[in-house]
Amino acid sequence: MSEILPSYLAGSWRSGTGAGAPVLDAVTGELVTRTSTDGLDLAEAVRHAREVGGPALRALGFTERAGLVKAVAGAVAERKQELYDLSARAGCTRADAKVDVDGGFGTAMVFASLGRKGLPEGNVLVEDDETLLGRDGTFVGSHVLTPLRGLALQINAFNFPVWGMLEKLAPALIAGVPTIVKPASQTAYVTEHAVRIMLETGVLPEGALQLVSGSVPGIFDLLGGQDLVGFTGSAGTAAKLRSDPAVTQRSVRFNAEADSLNASVLGPDATSGTPEFDLFVGALVTEMTVKAGQKCTAIRRAFVPQDRVDEVAGAVSAKLAEVVVGAPGADGVTMGALVGVEQRDDVRQQVDRIREQADLVFGDPAQVDVVGADAERGAFLSPILLRSTDRSASAPHRVEAFGPVSTLLSYDGVPDLVEQVARGEGSLAGSVVSADADFVRDAVVGMAPLHGRILVLDRDCAGESTGHGTPMPQLVHGGPGRAGGGEEEGGLRAVRHHLQRTAVQGRPGLAQTLAGN
Ligand code: NAP
Repeated sequence: MSEILPSYLAGSWRSGTGAGAPVLDAVTGELVTRTSTDGLDLAEAVRHAREVGGPALRALGFTERAGLVKAVAGAVAERKQELYDLSARAGCTRADAKVDVDGGFGTAMVFASLGRKGLPEGNVLVEDDETLLGRDGTFVGSHVLTPLRGLALQINAFNFPVWGMLEKLAPALIAGVPTIVKPASQTAYVTEHAVRIMLETGVLPEGALQLVSGSVPGIFDLLGGQDLVGFTGSAGTAAKLRSDPAVTQRSVRFNAEADSLNASVLGPDATSGTPEFDLFVGALVTEMTVKAGQKCTAIRRAFVPQDRVDEVAGAVSAKLAEVVVGAPGADGVTMGALVGVEQRDDVRQQVDRIREQADLVFGDPAQVDVVGADAERGAFLSPILLRSTDRSASAPHRVEAFGPVSTLLSYDGVPDLVEQVARGEGSLAGSVVSADADFVRDAVVGMAPLHGRILVLDRDCAGESTGHGTPMPQLVHGGPGRAGGGEEEGGLRAVRHHLQRTAVQGRPGLAQTLAGN
């Protein structure tokens, strides 16, 4: 695979022209593929979605389309090994690849199940009961939801080439909205293979799913008021796209999932030796090392009571010392590579910025022992634990080092904690590790306006907990402020996001008649 990575547009696989941008193996530095969209007709793809994919999807109903999602998710599940193998080239261990691949098809299956059980047949969803609008009861109103007639452009980040795609694609397809998937160039070859697997099932109507492998210059110019953009990536790119006239003037629905400085909090009750102390330390190490810390939900700020900083630093360092960095699949390796050397260098730079206001506790950003690969050719980095005692420091609350990096911070009571957490300006995920009900209540209520999701972890729920960093399809994923201000997942909310809500007014029973009941 070293020619130009194909795109699937308007019913056929096509490749852009020119030399393309190289995509290198995260472990060996070898060329994996090249991406180019030069010469590809994106306007034709947009038309194809609207004129072929949309009508074909809307010829089916919600529940039938949920059945299609189940079928394509099943195909990805059957061929997951192929995707694990490709993910290894992006630096992922088997465990990392499972988070993305199994997380992806699992999420799509949950959506399919929710859709089959919770949505009606047909294309009209009656949202609420009728409201009387006149004295005699002959004139009422309610809301119906119907599929938008445009397309969903789904722009994804490099770190979840399968999950990121499927968590957006599944609700769009169930809603009846055709999709153009635009993966991040660095890992587009993993997404491309997943799309191929889904298309090879032959169950999706033509035009329901298209793929652009590479950059998409000018595509926003083609979008209008019936279209949606689902974006996942950095806050900087989100800000740029959000200010495009497609969004500001033509009201394209724009949802952003951006980055955040997620916090985990150790409760005052959780002293050394308690299960909560161990849970906190374990979760922090997991979040730092899974996918080499390249997770939007990873813990970047670890808050502990003032008198426990040393203890936590020691316990976390001891666990990090057990981490074996190296080539995915090599003997004993527990943490793989970052997606590429540019990403590694970027993380080093961000660590330097944080270090201006924090001390290094564990790891050396410039040096790492690597098993089964060349430390310089591959994008390897040691886990890095920092510690900041300077209360005026801003970098730990602002700078996202998108790798295996976290900073230990201390707090003195709930008001101080909430004040400090707020300095992150909005996060996707937070956690409070404590069995003290009063502390949990005060901390969670204080932190809730700053978060899309909060995990409260204690000895009783730990066994079944899905962890700090794992968004669940049944629950909202997103966050305020810096986190993008959007919402994805959240069960059928994500389907409804692709539907237009229309107030219908008339005689009693009108909405049910429209729905064919
Ligand atoms: P990125 O550089 O912002 O890119 C994200 C996506 O936007 C890529 O597909 C990129 O395509 C595309 N893009 C860039 N400029 C564009 C433009 N002008 N028009 C249309 N598309 C454009 O982010 P990244 O480096 O891939 O991902 C890392 C960041 O994503 C981190 O900050 C992380 O926190 C965040 N993230 C957030 C979530 C979440 O759910 N909130 C999940 C994962 C990651 P190209 O690759 O082709 O440039």
